[in-house]
Amino acid sequence: GPIGQIFEKRLNSFFGSKYSSIISNGTSALYLLGKVLDWKKNDIIINSPITFLAGPNSVVYNGSTPDFVDINLNNFTIDLNKLENKIKKFNGVKKVKSVIATDYAGHPCDWEGLRYLKSKYNFTLINDNCHAMGAKLNGSQQYAVKYSDFVILSFHAVKNITTGEGGAILTNRKKENEKIKLLSSHGLIRNFSNQKKLKYDGYYEMVDLGYNLRLSDIQSALGITQIKKLSKFVKKRNEIAKMYFDFLGNCEKILLPKSSNNIYHGYHLYPCQIDFEKNKINKKDFFKKMLKNKIKLQVHYIPVHLQPFYKKKFGFKIGDFKNAEKFFSNEISLPIYYSLKKNEVKYISEKIIECLK
Ligand SMILES: *Cc1c(COP(=O)(O)O)cnc(C)c1O
Repeated sequence: GPIGQIFEKRLNSFFGSKYSSIISNGTSALYLLGKVLDWKKNDIIINSPITFLAGPNSVVYNGSTPDFVDINLNNFTIDLNKLENKIKKFNGVKKVKSVIATDYAGHPCDWEGLRYLKSKYNFTLINDNCHAMGAKLNGSQQYAVKYSDFVILSFHAVKNITTGEGGAILTNRKKENEKIKLLSSHGLIRNFSNQKKLKYDGYYEMVDLGYNLRLSDIQSALGITQIKKLSKFVKKRNEIAKMYFDFLGNCEKILLPKSSNNIYHGYHLYPCQIDFEKNKINKKDFFKKMLKNKIKLQVHYIPVHLQPFYKKKFGFKIGDFKNAEKFFSNEISLPIYYSLKKNEVKYISEKIIECLK
């Protein structure tokens, strides 16, 4: 509807894209993109194991071959050396068609490096930007569109901005964007450049097998007001991160997320590392103790290759992606959200220190 079109314009101006298509949610956006890119059975689509299930699942929905490349241990995004090694190992026998790189927790990947590999090995580069809306690379919030071919957004309730449920695909590619629009709404055409085709008002043709993956005007209206606040929301998340750093920065047993000077973190998540084994702390007990203090911790993420479905269907196993597995065993996500107060951050930090003793 008309409000949706306004929301798309606002997305374009915030993220610097030529085109955007609002979609019912981030997962269906990934699914649809696979259709538009014509992922085939033997095409390999790479994700890192430390991402939300939706990325790898979109590969399986399309009947293509999911594979993973391990994370680096600096910022826990996809490791580019390992990505190149994997592509080389396939040696042209199998084709890596697309790479879906997640800006995990809100920390941008090494996008210049990814861009270089894309041009060298000719794959489609997708930024799963669902965590990083409002983050910056080299001072720009428009980095995602600049470096990748397609950017996936999610406006799920927990994300940096929300429409309840919702998502979008941003791109500078006209042809693919037209196909995204076509397939997101039944593959139907109503506007014909050839006027002769217009037999009567309401005439339409179905030219491809599309779906109903639209976002409603009601949700778009919310999106329009949310995107105005995105920078403010992310600033607040950075302030909360700074508070955690002030309260917990000196505690040796917990490693806090960090980012280099050229990065403005999106802080959708606040993932910390505790070496539970070395510190002889039982992770399950630690979570229980924290919950007794009314603090709910989370984990982001259980490595996707270790999910029962992926192990059973594709034969992935423990040991396949060691950095991701190590990261997961040490990882805890602390609460971070707009309305979190300083005294609450202080309370959480004190309880962490207490429970680590
Ligand atoms: C939330 C999320 C998605 C999926 O978005 P939905 O809108 O919830 O379907 C995809 N990838 C990542 C990394 C996410 O965090």
